[in-house]
Amino acid sequence: MAEAIEKNEPVDFIREIVINDVKNGKHGGQVVTRFPPEPNGYLHIGHAKAICLDFGIAQEFNGKCNLRMDDTNPTKEDTEYVDSIINDVRWLGFEPAAVYYASDYFDRMYECAVELIKRGKAYVCTLSNEEWEEYKGNLNVPGRESPGRSRSIEENLDLFTRMKAGEFADGAMVLRAKIDMASPNINMRDPVIYRIRRITHFRHGDKYCIYPMYDFAHPLEDAFEGVTHSLCTLEFEIHRPLYDWVLEALDYPHRPQQIEFSRLNLTNTVMSKRKLLQLVKENHVSNWDDPRMPTICGMRRRGVPAAAIRKMCKIVGITKFDGITDAAVLEHCIREELNAVAPRFMAVLDPLKVTITNFPAEGVPELDAVNNPEDPAAGSRKLPFSGTLYIDRADFMLEPPKGYFRLAPGAEVRLRYGYFIRCNEVVQDADGNVTELKCTFDPETRGGNAPDGRKVKGTIHWVSAEHAKAAEVRLYDRLFSVEQPGTDGVDFLTQLNPDSKKVVTGYLEPAAARLNPGDVAQFERVGYFACDPDSTADLPVFNRTVTLKDSWSKQQKK
Ligand code: ATP
Ligand code: MG
Repeated sequence: MAEAIEKNEPVDFIREIVINDVKNGKHGGQVVTRFPPEPNGYLHIGHAKAICLDFGIAQEFNGKCNLRMDDTNPTKEDTEYVDSIINDVRWLGFEPAAVYYASDYFDRMYECAVELIKRGKAYVCTLSNEEWEEYKGNLNVPGRESPGRSRSIEENLDLFTRMKAGEFADGAMVLRAKIDMASPNINMRDPVIYRIRRITHFRHGDKYCIYPMYDFAHPLEDAFEGVTHSLCTLEFEIHRPLYDWVLEALDYPHRPQQIEFSRLNLTNTVMSKRKLLQLVKENHVSNWDDPRMPTICGMRRRGVPAAAIRKMCKIVGITKFDGITDAAVLEHCIREELNAVAPRFMAVLDPLKVTITNFPAEGVPELDAVNNPEDPAAGSRKLPFSGTLYIDRADFMLEPPKGYFRLAPGAEVRLRYGYFIRCNEVVQDADGNVTELKCTFDPETRGGNAPDGRKVKGTIHWVSAEHAKAAEVRLYDRLFSVEQPGTDGVDFLTQLNPDSKKVVTGYLEPAAARLNPGDVAQFERVGYFACDPDSTADLPVFNRTVTLKDSWSKQQKK
């Protein structure tokens, strides 16, 4: 028995339907789903919601989920997108039962259209688009019948065969389903099911000059694959009568059930492919995989773990209500996941030089640093200490307020995994900028405690300047500074966050410089970072995945 039924936990409305279908033996108790992206762009976090649902349900019910490229509208489709989609689905943690292409069914779909004509349920219509606008009526006015509606079956078959053979110009005629010109659902007023378009298909070249429309193709694709539950977003609800009509009209033996759920929307970003493409084309971001993009490849590059995306989708859940999810929910999931898995390192992004005036000529042994306090199995590493260090500028104040526990003139602070240091002298330039601190270290406090019981409250991060590796650190933030860019008639491009990317030179402890592209890390007290593929042996590059704490909700409450 499937895991989902055994558990008896509360489930969303789709799983409830599936549970009942399995219990009642519908489709022989089988569950087959599909994820059907159009390969005309890169997958984004919204797609991840559909992927987690389609593949998740298949897993829970011992069923299968196909990945199907919905490539029936070849104008903007490309293999570049196909490859990225397959890669992204796998990266998200799901293995398709099969990868199919809707276009591989074109011949079968054509046969289905011929069958509809033979059954008197489709006809060739030569009305122009403008004429059809007038014929189809509107919500208050029923449509009028196209003259083609009364064409004989023989004539329709002849014309449709010649449409396929390329005898007519693009747009000269279409094949329509003969349904109901008075239907209150305009989609049911004799919709187009085939059109003539001479476009080169990325998979089939110029083999076809007629292409099926989505509403005709999709139910057939599902039926051909034995899909039992065809899950899609709410905008398809109004297309469902046509989905059902196509299979009914053909008496198709297998009948998938279309069920709609609400899309995922996320604050401070955009998800429409058109807008994402515009961001790329107009160089507002570096590419589809820019770490600020809501694309799966962008998030991967930023260092977002697949598990965090899956967790967010679970938290958001499946409903029929449209809503918008706060980016903070995703960021919370990212922190939770990275906190568990990311090894810790020291890195200083805004360095202030510290000279240890009593550092012994013979040096000191390397220190021991814990790799991940959340995961004892992660072990420890060696950390070199020397007479010249960097600390973060933000950890020193010339005139500290009361209750400031970090470094200040005369004050003592603990260096993480190191020693206590005391600031004895502050070096300033002519403008009064602090350029160096001269400190002494207490060799007795190695590892972080004083044998005399002396307490220091502040612990700061640091690196040995002599051993540190310089790195390019890209500090990413949310791409848009408003929650819902592009709404209220505002151009979304004017709402880009000007501070969504800042590049600084950071200084890393030697172990961090050995990370490879794709590796994630926590730079202690700074944030979570991922090593970027732009890294070279000379210059590692790191992307900030997320800060350690949410700084946005605070800002908004101000
Ligand atoms: P387009 O802008 O081209 O219409 P699309 O977002 O509909 O893009 P598809 O490639 O057709 O993209 O989507 C594949 C599947 O992913 C569809 O079943 C669609 O319903 C689902 N999907 C797309 N966007 C979201 C979203 N934001 N939330 C949940 N599911 C989504
Ligand atoms: Mg779509």
